[in-house]
Parts: sequence; structure tokens; C-alpha cells
Amino acid sequence: MSKSLQPETLCIQAGYTPKNGEPRQIPIIQSTTFRYESAAEMAKLFDLEASGYFYTRLQNPTCDAVAAKLAALEGGTMAMLTSSGQAATFFSVFNITSCGDHFISSSAIYGGSFNLFSVTMKRMGIECTFVDPDCSEEELEAAFRPNTKCVFGETIANPALRVLDIEKFAKAAHRHGVPLIVDNTFATPINCRPIEWGADIVTHSTSKYIDGHAAALGGAIIDSGNFDWAKYPDKFPGLCTPDDSYHGVIYTERFGKEGAFITKATAQLMRDFGCMQSPQNAFITNLGIESLPVRMARHCENAQRIAEFLEAQEKISWVSYSGLKNDKYYELAQKYLPKGSCGVISFGVKGGRAAAAAFMEALQLAAIETHVADARTCCLHPAGTTHRQMNDQELLAAGVSADLIRLSCGLENADDLIADLQQALNKL
Ligand SMILES: *Cc1c(COP(=O)(O)O)cnc(C)c1O
Repeated sequence: MSKSLQPETLCIQAGYTPKNGEPRQIPIIQSTTFRYESAAEMAKLFDLEASGYFYTRLQNPTCDAVAAKLAALEGGTMAMLTSSGQAATFFSVFNITSCGDHFISSSAIYGGSFNLFSVTMKRMGIECTFVDPDCSEEELEAAFRPNTKCVFGETIANPALRVLDIEKFAKAAHRHGVPLIVDNTFATPINCRPIEWGADIVTHSTSKYIDGHAAALGGAIIDSGNFDWAKYPDKFPGLCTPDDSYHGVIYTERFGKEGAFITKATAQLMRDFGCMQSPQNAFITNLGIESLPVRMARHCENAQRIAEFLEAQEKISWVSYSGLKNDKYYELAQKYLPKGSCGVISFGVKGGRAAAAAFMEALQLAAIETHVADARTCCLHPAGTTHRQMNDQELLAAGVSADLIRLSCGLENADDLIADLQQALNKL
């Protein structure tokens, strides 16, 4: 498919082209396994000498079609789906780190990613240094160590809504010969394509806007194909030296820089951890992608109107939305997110924790939910729920104050949503 096609077209057409008489929509290949006529053919698949399907834990045609569409949308060379965004985050880092290694992450990231990096991966002997995304180049520079293997950040941090200066992070990573991994969940490839700004690997929780209907959990990893692993064989032995579990295949030699990362993550991590996405979920995810550009525009339009409404309210102490002219991230958003950021706003209600709870309970259209970024408007108090494992200092670094309410603006009529917020404010 032509590289010059616009995202709206790729969302519909990329990844799957039926041949004469074949189904127009991506078929759900609901099969764990695939039949072969000779044992020798199957053996070649096992040795990665031929490509083909043999077991859905490793690869499935439905999932591959959706992954190929996401690769086209992000401008990458190869992609894979995972069972969840958490699995995508974990695989993206663990694919190039081992016990004794170190990596750097923006401190303003999703709570689940923070926990994964600061607690669970630490138990595996992989250490993470968190840096403020707004840090100076010198501060970022100081976080690198000889054993640093990658840098991680989020385009728009959930829930802090801080916009990552992707170029600053990419340049620092590349100066040290390591890749930048960017979680692009909130922006989606419609509003930002991190690879164009220097990111090497992009991850997603497709459970959010990409599915968009709160129907299917999923994740994705997309490789830009730009990072030259073979230039740093000592740093990335897993990609540049023989893999004993595949008869000595060297991923960079066999699959090049365009395919080494995803092939290794599929062949080793998916084989051993099994966090694959079900073909059913991939099908639902794809339905979401088809309407993604239309929905993102509406999410952003509603969020902009609601942010402006909230900003003008006496009972609201602060509003954070990068579409507001006086927002701290307005300039960065103009650069990286010129079409709009996302539908998520955060704000504080005067009166702190208690007022926040009372306000949320008074809302009738916006439901209290853990989820964000789907068709239905919902809200959450992160300090009391998703981020409750963090102490006050960690909350501050993640950009989550105790009074923060996260409002995910859905696709309803904006006037109805504003009327709902107004009646809840009147009750305070
Ligand atoms: C939700 C989320 C994740 C985790 O995704 P799951 O699909 O829930 O596992 C990761 N990153 C961001 C930015 C998210 O919002």
C-alpha cells in the first residue's frame, strides 16, 4: 500500500486486501492451530526459516492484519498485537533488557506502567530511573548509565496530561545509542505519530481510543525500523548474538533492523509469556480503527468546549488541557498535536478530596469508571483509585494532585455534557 496515503484512508484500507471472492471485512480466524502437509514444512516454521502460521499464541492472521494496519498508521515497518497495553509496555522494554540492565522513564506515565517499572521489573533486576518530562537536557543526560538500554515516555501522560517533548527525549536516547519507546495511547496515530519526531518504538493500549467503545482489551507494539541495533552489539546481545532457543538465529542478521525487534518479541516473549490478543478482540479493535479519525476529532472538540466551560467556573480551582491557551503544555501541543490532543481533561474542585467525591457522585451522564477514552463520558479520582499505591511525593512527580479529577469526554452532545457538569457544580 502506498506510503503517501492519509491516515483516514489507512484506517479503512491498510493491513488487509482481500483477493477475488474473499471476505471484504477481516475474517476472524478463530483457530488455535493450522494444518500442514509435511513435517518438514512445519519444522521450517519452528526454526524461523519460513514464515507462516502454526499456533495462535505466536501468530494469527486476524491479529497480523490489524497489526499491519497499525504499523502503516504509525509509519513503522512491523507491529504486533498483545493482550493488553500492559503486556505491550512490558514486552517493549523487556525485549531489550535483562537482569542487571537499566532504563530511563518519564515520571509522568500511566499508573500501571509506573508500577511495572518501579516494582515488578525491579524484582527482575532491571532498574528504572524516573525523570521529570520537563527536565533540562542536562538533567536528562545525568540519568544515563553505561548499562542504560532504552528511554520510555508517554506522548500525553495519563492522567497528568503532560505532553512529552519527544524530540528532546529522542535526541538524548540516540546520543547514548539507545532507542526511545513512546506510549502513544492517548494521542493515537491520528493526532501524533511519534516516529516522525524520532521515536524508535511505539506502544499502545488499544483498549482506549483505538477500540473506542470499551469493548476489547488489547495492546500493540510498532517498530519504526529505524534503530540500528547491530551498531551496538554489546548493548543489545539478544538481538545481535545467536538465540540458542532458535538454533542460533541472529535476529538483526536474519530480519534486518526493520524486523528484528518485533520478530524477537514474537518468537521469544510471546512464546514464553503468551500475552497474545484473541482474534475476536483484534476484530473488534479493527472496527474501532475504521472510525478512529472521525471519533478523535469529536472527542477533541467536546473536550475543548468542556475545558473552556470548566475554566470559567468559580468552583473549579484549576483545569489542565493542552488545548487551553494558558495551559503549561499549549506550546508543546501546538508542535506535536496540532490536530488536537485527546478527550481527557483533568481539573480540581475547590474543597479538595471531599468536594471531588461529592461532585463526581452528582454527575448523571458521566459515570465513575476506571476506564478512559471511549465513547461514553466518564470520570475518575486517580489519587483514590488508579494511583493509590503512590505516596504523595510520587503522586507529585506523576503530576497527580490529591484533588485531581480526570474527565474523559465521550462522543455525546457537548451541550448535554456541559449541562450535567453545571447541575453537579450547582449542588456543591
Ligand atoms: C490504559 C493504559 C495502559 C495499559 O493498558 P491496558 O490495556 O489497560 O493494559 C498503558 N498506557 C496508557 C497510557 C494507558 O492509558
